Amino acid sequence: MRRGALRVGITTYAGQSARSAIAINWHPVDELCDFVDHAERRFGNGTWDVAQGIGAAGARANLKGVMLRIALYLTKPSFLMTRIAGMWRQFNDEGQMTLVEMTTERAIIEVSGIAKPRATFCHVLTGWVGEVTQALGAEIDSLQHTHCRARGGTRCVWEVRGRVKVD
Ligand SMILES: [Zn+2]
Repeated sequence: MRRGALRVGITTYAGQSARSAIAINWHPVDELCDFVDHAERRFGNGTWDVAQGIGAAGARANLKGVMLRIALYLTKPSFLMTRIAGMWRQFNDEGQMTLVEMTTERAIIEVSGIAKPRATFCHVLTGWVGEVTQALGAEIDSLQHTHCRARGGTRCVWEVRGRVKVD
């Protein structure tokens, strides 16, 4: 099995039909990070919005599954945990994503088992987490990568604060 590959949606902008032009491919993580680093230097404004945008695009590609669309209406934490783990599998074949805690005001998400953590990849994941969390019905007030192995921490943890929409 390939290690460290992930699948992201590459969008080719062709006027109004941009959304239909998403091709999904597996990319080695290091290759993607090198690309993101370059894009950030060239187009970024220092806030890693390019990396997060790429992560969000990857999440939108993952969210295309029919089963998931049905799942979005179910908000049982144990069920969400299974869904997030499954979506991670679609996005990355290394490590795992776990929903550590979920209340109506906050969610704690951890990614573990990545052999070589890179800050760039974590910025991509921040975008991915934000997009998936919103799709699962949350209104986000803040999203922070609170602990990071690439910054010397022992874990990679994201904290999402906001509200779960009930409608
Ligand atoms: Zn990290």
